[in-house]
Amino acid sequence: MKKLKIYNTLTKKIEEINPLKDKQITLYTCGPTVYDYTHLGHIRTYINNDILKRTLEYLGYKVIHTMNITDVGHLTDDADSGEDKLEKGAKKHKKTVWEVAQYFTDYFFYTIDEVNIKKPNIICKATEHIQQMINLIKKLEEKGYTYETSQAVYFNVTKFKNYGKLSGQSLKDKLTAVREEVVLDPEKKHPADFALWFKRTGRFANHTMHWNSPWGDGFPGWHIECSAMSMHYLGETIDIHTGGEDHIPVHHENEIAQSESATGKLFVRYWLHNAFLLIEGEKMSKSKQNFYTIDDIKAKGFSPLALRLHFLSGHYRQQFNFTFKALQATENSFKSLQKKIEELKFLNKYLRLEKPKEKNYRLAKEFEQKFIDCLTEDLNTPQALAEFWRFIAREDIHPLVKLKQILKLDQILGLKLDTIKTVNITAELKKLIREREELKKKRNFQKADEIRNIINQKGFELKDTKQGTVVLSKN
Ligand code: AMP
Ligand code: ZN
Repeated sequence: MKKLKIYNTLTKKIEEINPLKDKQITLYTCGPTVYDYTHLGHIRTYINNDILKRTLEYLGYKVIHTMNITDVGHLTDDADSGEDKLEKGAKKHKKTVWEVAQYFTDYFFYTIDEVNIKKPNIICKATEHIQQMINLIKKLEEKGYTYETSQAVYFNVTKFKNYGKLSGQSLKDKLTAVREEVVLDPEKKHPADFALWFKRTGRFANHTMHWNSPWGDGFPGWHIECSAMSMHYLGETIDIHTGGEDHIPVHHENEIAQSESATGKLFVRYWLHNAFLLIEGEKMSKSKQNFYTIDDIKAKGFSPLALRLHFLSGHYRQQFNFTFKALQATENSFKSLQKKIEELKFLNKYLRLEKPKEKNYRLAKEFEQKFIDCLTEDLNTPQALAEFWRFIAREDIHPLVKLKQILKLDQILGLKLDTIKTVNITAELKKLIREREELKKKRNFQKADEIRNIINQKGFELKDTKQGTVVLSKN
């Protein structure tokens, strides 16, 4: 079995993935905080995760993929300060927190479906797993990793000796980074300590979402949900955990601290992080109003699958600078790819072709190997695509072999090339094509062109190939 190699943020090395259980991979992805529209940055990160999953499936693994939906507890600042994002979203969109969560959860699933991202096997909402979180906090409390103030229950980071192992940041560095925190809760011992449970008091006295707990009425902190749900669905140690690179220094560091303190076991074996997306050279920000959604992309006339192809042209560990100009170029290549598939389907369906020679299968297999080698080397999608385009452009591969091979690898690329339909040839159309061919044989090109025009007017295009005349839809 061929192995996938990826860059593991934990070890800072490219490593071969060897799962805990043979042929099975447990994968956890930090899901969206559902207080606003899913934007291009999210889409890019989740497309890359989808390629990871599809590559593993191609290699023969059964992937058990879990994703959370953060519908409570995520403050505007990852390190416990600021407003609750859901409450903020509710105000902005004039909905209740519950409505806002449902609305943007739906929008998230609509978006990922548009770009053909496979739905995770297990999708879990934070609000539906409060008990699992409480149990985990209790376990940490029993083991002496927590302390309580009048505002919250905190994880004491100084008790976890490996704190900072993911980001490589020492507690001293953290101290300067999060100093402001002390002001919000004067009883907090270390500024990097993070809340496991917020009490419904002080700045959160009117918090809408709240539950009973051993520490009183309140709501969970953001980080605890991923540890609790990951362990609940996938076990105490999982194979791969993914997220955007913004999660490394706080969220994932905290996930590690609380999980490993509770179980005494390694939480995640391979950490994979996606680099951020820039829009026209700029960071996404409110002032720039550049949080484009999939509907913005569609409204500008681009297809969601062209966007998918576009994102695959960059490596997941490199920042991607999104521009509409470059998307337009990909949209054009995507259209010609779709036309090529239509042509190949036509050739195979309507024209009598010779049987493919053995050499064709060998060439196709060689291409498949090269394509997969690019992906197994730290998911190098730009190089895999370069191989893909090269294979498509080859004139010496039999249409049947070519089509089959492309569709097989599209199981990984996810461009839905299998859904492209070839035209339906009516008896009338067949007659016209035959007439035109006869005229061409007689070198009566003027008349032949007249027939071509008639066919064009009926909404079709003709393409003369070495295997014969191909009819394509005109769009
Ligand atoms: P959030 O809803 O902000 O918690 O983000 C959900 C996922 O999208 C996380 O893995 C983030 O790291 C990722 N993400 C957010 N913004 C961007 C961006 N601009 N580029 C790439 N990934 C992003
Ligand atoms: Zn998470």
